[in-house]
Amino acid sequence: MSQPPPRAKFPLQLEGLNRPAKRLAAAPGAGSKAAATPVASAIPRAEPRPVLRPQQPLQQAALDSARRVAPSGLGLDSAGIRRRMVDRLVQAGLRDELVKGAMSEVPRHLFVDTALVNQAYEDTSLPIGHGQTISKPSVVARMIELLMGGANARARRSLGHTLEIGTGCGYQAAVLARLSRQVMSIERLRPLHDKAREHLAPLRQMNIRLVYGDGMRGHPPNAPYDSIIAAAGGEALPDAWLEQLAVGGRLVAPVHDASGSRQVLVVVDRTADGYTRSVHEAVHFVPLKSGLD
Ligand code: SAH
Repeated sequence: MSQPPPRAKFPLQLEGLNRPAKRLAAAPGAGSKAAATPVASAIPRAEPRPVLRPQQPLQQAALDSARRVAPSGLGLDSAGIRRRMVDRLVQAGLRDELVKGAMSEVPRHLFVDTALVNQAYEDTSLPIGHGQTISKPSVVARMIELLMGGANARARRSLGHTLEIGTGCGYQAAVLARLSRQVMSIERLRPLHDKAREHLAPLRQMNIRLVYGDGMRGHPPNAPYDSIIAAAGGEALPDAWLEQLAVGGRLVAPVHDASGSRQVLVVVDRTADGYTRSVHEAVHFVPLKSGLD
């Protein structure tokens, strides 16, 4: 991974960042019709998973589910295949031990179509239907490692209260959940929202809430967030995300650069005095769209 360029101070071209920081009340239901539902609500007897235990073995249900999905003989349910994926991520620059642990635990093959499972541990994005893609493991790891560098996350060694925009198939939400106290994940396409719920149920990660809604508004009922991550790239960062970021929180998102011809990863930190921003490498994400489909 290339060295990040030096951090830039505001004023910058992103809308909404030049205002003085203001504390937002977490008004329940305000500005959002989105309904949050627990992922594993249908599963009786499920104990809440402790967070930040990256070495914990997978739940038996996930292993059973892996066997159902994966053609036998591919070895996709073995920890070895994920360890090798993480080794390659380390060679590419991944350093954070907690992120390595989380990436080595989540069975990515459970989140992709049966026809693609043999590519699940390659460093490639894959189609998940409805014109959307699951991000490459290296991009997921990179963005989450950046999030772990936020002030609150560094102090607590946890992403804390996390908002993900763009649930997609649910894979990244599963990784985030292993590093967060709670994850709210929003998706605007109903079939993907439903699919993510199916994918996540066997993992029994009780600290994920899936929301069907327009993530451009963030999710005010649970704000503020220590960590905000977007899996879709827009022209600018929506004001709502910045407003819903906690002091000490960090946002990581793909945004079109000034030329509009490419996307770059943007990191925004909220401090008591306002916001600071740094711009990182070029990326390629599906577009951030407004409204519901
Ligand atoms: N994190 C996902 C990647 C999903 S791709 C994974 O692990 O699979 C990005 C997703 O963002 C798509 O599913 C797309 O529908 C969704 N998206 C785009 N604009 C959105 C918006 N305004 N609100 C919520 N989701 C959005």
